[in-house]
Amino acid sequence: MSYAVKEAFLTLQGEGVQAGSRAVFLRFAGCNLWSGREADRRQAVCQFCDTDFVGTDGIGGGKFGDPAALALHVAALWGEGRERRLVVVTGGEPMLQLDSALVDALHEQGFRIAVESNGTIAATPGIDWLCISPKAGSEVVQRSGDELKLVWPQAGIDPAGLEAWDFGHFLVQPMDCAASEAALEAAIALAMERPRWRLTLQAHKIVGLR
Ligand code: SF4
Repeated sequence: MSYAVKEAFLTLQGEGVQAGSRAVFLRFAGCNLWSGREADRRQAVCQFCDTDFVGTDGIGGGKFGDPAALALHVAALWGEGRERRLVVVTGGEPMLQLDSALVDALHEQGFRIAVESNGTIAATPGIDWLCISPKAGSEVVQRSGDELKLVWPQAGIDPAGLEAWDFGHFLVQPMDCAASEAALEAAIALAMERPRWRLTLQAHKIVGLR
């Protein structure tokens, strides 16, 4: 299989349980809940996306003909040393492209593999840290993992209903939108009302990292 990568770069993970960790971000092109074109946003299942995942023209992006080539690209971005190598595989929707061959190739390069998915496609076995971020109006089939990250508020999602899902951590993250102050208030209110949920912020945006 070949892989279409929007961008790939070395940074610090900005959000979630592993916030602050050095990581290579591997952003696949394409999503199954939105085309990525503004003209289609109003008809999309997911309408609040803040990410450009169209094409392969970003920094470190491109087309890779096989899993070994992509894993070597990720390893080169990490640089020297194999200690605590971490790749965050995201998108778009990474499960459209992350297959077992790439999981094996990244492991061979010494990486722990963290994935951020919308959960509408079952996760490939072998992932080391699975974060699912449900989107209202979609059918989430992947209801277990390490981290459930709820972007909030989202009409049509009941946080109480998600608490039966099998995750180690339940995180609420204010939606990055025009009404960001109200979203932060709503996220704080949820964490205060339901102690299962912890507030997470997008620290990379606060401190100016990619
Ligand atoms: S599911 Fe994720 S990548 Fe896809 S449109 Fe929504 S926020 Fe963007």
